Amino acid sequence: MSQRNTEAEMQGAVLPGNSTAEIRSYPVPEPGWGQVLLRMKSSTICGSDIRAIYREHLGIGPEGYQGVIAGHEPCGQIVDTGPGCRRFGPGDRVIVYHISGCGLCYDCRRGYMISCTSEQHRRAYGWQRDGGMADYLLAEEKDLVSLPDALSYTDGAQVACGFGTAYEGLQKIGVSGDDAVLITGLGPVGLAAAALCRKLGANRIFGIDVLPGRLQLARELGLCDETVPGGPENVSDILTLTAGRGVERAVECSGQAEARVTAIRATRRWGRIVLLGEGGTVQFQPSPDLMHDQKTIYGSWVTSIWRMEELVERLVRWQLFPSSLVTHRFPLARVDEAYALMASGRCGKVAVCFDEELP
Ligand SMILES: [Zn+2]
Ligand SMILES: [Zn+2]
Repeated sequence: MSQRNTEAEMQGAVLPGNSTAEIRSYPVPEPGWGQVLLRMKSSTICGSDIRAIYREHLGIGPEGYQGVIAGHEPCGQIVDTGPGCRRFGPGDRVIVYHISGCGLCYDCRRGYMISCTSEQHRRAYGWQRDGGMADYLLAEEKDLVSLPDALSYTDGAQVACGFGTAYEGLQKIGVSGDDAVLITGLGPVGLAAAALCRKLGANRIFGIDVLPGRLQLARELGLCDETVPGGPENVSDILTLTAGRGVERAVECSGQAEARVTAIRATRRWGRIVLLGEGGTVQFQPSPDLMHDQKTIYGSWVTSIWRMEELVERLVRWQLFPSSLVTHRFPLARVDEAYALMASGRCGKVAVCFDEELP
């Protein structure tokens, strides 16, 4: 059954919470019932790793980091399976849905393991169980999504969290050729939202960010038709670009109070807004900002495993390759540099890569 070399040890990275990443040695795990062992190929860094773990351990509950191997955007190749696996086997290329749920609660049965209510069994990779910043990863077979041949492992790593999160939000508000879309916050999730909006047919895509490098990247990648530096005039900036009416759809990816208000006020009557950026707060006036203009605000958190399967199929059909948002790749030995760069925000997506995924 085993195809791997019987290496006794592997390297894995933990985040002590003082803006460093530390490599430690671990035994290579043995897959148990219904589990697989992945050779890691690509493990991308998420904004929430920086926000809730890297700088300091802020998270509680589902975002409580328990000192495990970091990395919740893993993609790799199966090298070994435990007993009882029914679909996947050695050699299969797979993405890991990054929260292992109990599989039996209401939310797990809907496919949204992110919202699993079992305190005893819900374990997110890279938060409460070992994640992808290691040579090998032990995963549950039920958490896997097949990676199509047309997509690279670094494409797949970003489906797990960034692209999946953006796609879920866009499905909730509905985006089509009828729409001009505003994206506030052009980090990896904002850029993913822009790339997906293009494929869904949005004809005008506007992006706002306070970091000039991010605006430049969004333009260079052809993801935004217009970019606007973040500032107090942003609502009128967007109204000017939309014949005074505002956009039909807005996607808030920054988590910043001012940007949230911009997203709400720069959306036209009957429009829809989705909030994807985490943390923080917002102040707006329900009557003029929302009710009298017949607007709807959606909240959205990650995605479901069935929608992830749907998304990888669409990515191939659309010839949309998430790895195009990766601006920097590092080997595991330089994982500390990878996190430091991501924390600076002066980059697109940052990936820790292995084998053929390294330049
Ligand atoms: Zn994430
Ligand atoms: Zn559950």
